[in-house]
Amino acid sequence: MELTRDADLRPLNTFRVPARAAFLARVEETDDLRRCLALPQLRELPRLVLGGGSNILLRGDFQGLVLSICLRGMRVLGEDAEATYLRAAAGEPWHDLVGWSIALGHAGLENLSLIPGTVGAAPIQNIGAYGVELAERLHAVEALDLASGELRRLQPADCGLGYRTSAFKQGALSGHVVTAIEVRLPRQPRWVLDYPGVREALQAGADALDAARVSDAICGIRRRKLPDPVELPNAGSFFHNPVVATETLARLRAEHPELPAFRQADGRYKLSAAWLIERCGWKGQRRGDAGVYPGHALVLVNYGRATGAELWALAEAIRDAVAERFGLLLSPEPLVL
Ligand code: NAP
Repeated sequence: MELTRDADLRPLNTFRVPARAAFLARVEETDDLRRCLALPQLRELPRLVLGGGSNILLRGDFQGLVLSICLRGMRVLGEDAEATYLRAAAGEPWHDLVGWSIALGHAGLENLSLIPGTVGAAPIQNIGAYGVELAERLHAVEALDLASGELRRLQPADCGLGYRTSAFKQGALSGHVVTAIEVRLPRQPRWVLDYPGVREALQAGADALDAARVSDAICGIRRRKLPDPVELPNAGSFFHNPVVATETLARLRAEHPELPAFRQADGRYKLSAAWLIERCGWKGQRRGDAGVYPGHALVLVNYGRATGAELWALAEAIRDAVAERFGLLLSPEPLVL
């Protein structure tokens, strides 16, 4: 296992902000996690688990141990009458799993194309896009309990999956490191094409669909709307879409009749955080090298030399503006440290 003292975290976060870690461990096999926990100088330190670093804002240095999850490998587990089951290690890039499943001829992950980050981060956030979320395809999660060193196999029902959240993020599984996931891909595809632009991007209509075509359409939309973190560092959506009660929606719609809202299964309404931010005039704004992407108000970007503290100051200003105008408190989607 590779262990570095006073490590540079800049290459390990997609905002590319400067930060250092007291220790950085490159975890290439599950036993590396146990080895870290066995070392007296590491055992008591605060820990941070990093996958692709695409959902984190580092406001400063981290005086602890960063576990960089580099576990690799993907394989077909098997199939039954209804579905095919695939397994991927936590350090695989998420989009590689999507691309591989499609190349094998399986549908199910196409709407989740091009989401940045690793496989291991997917259940933490219960990633979702274009009307599909991981919870609908997840079969099992393998995770190591850092307290006991025990490797556990968890069912989706154990994972507390919610709207862009899970028990790994907040709750009973927060002391666990995801080491692998298994997905269940139904043999009978069910295309989800309702989000704006998806049907249009498929051009020739929905008659001869396959997963590769849907994936290409989603990739095309994402590339047009969202900045590539390699070219313009960012961490995807910076705020959660707020979910509000009917009374709150009625109050807001009285003043803003055009406010988009999507009814949830529990009867509440999901609002578009991007719309709220844009209405407050923040889309395309810039403070030094910290900015709001001109093409999408939900994405904060680093134009070069922004620090984590500067990006956070911008996020706070946006949050305050939305709170003042709409009476809603936006919460950040990335982990802010
Ligand atoms: P959009 O089409 O401009 O819509 C704005 C918001 O409205 C989205 O956040 C989406 O919620 C919601 N929405 C739109 N159509 C909907 C429908 N038919 N039913 C329910 N909710 C609907 O969206 P966008 O911002 O370009 O994003 C498109 C998709 O990519 C979304 O699913 C979004 O979550 C995903 N995305 C993810 C990231 C990330 O970093 N995690 C970044 C950008 C976009 P939902 O977010 O709940 O889908």
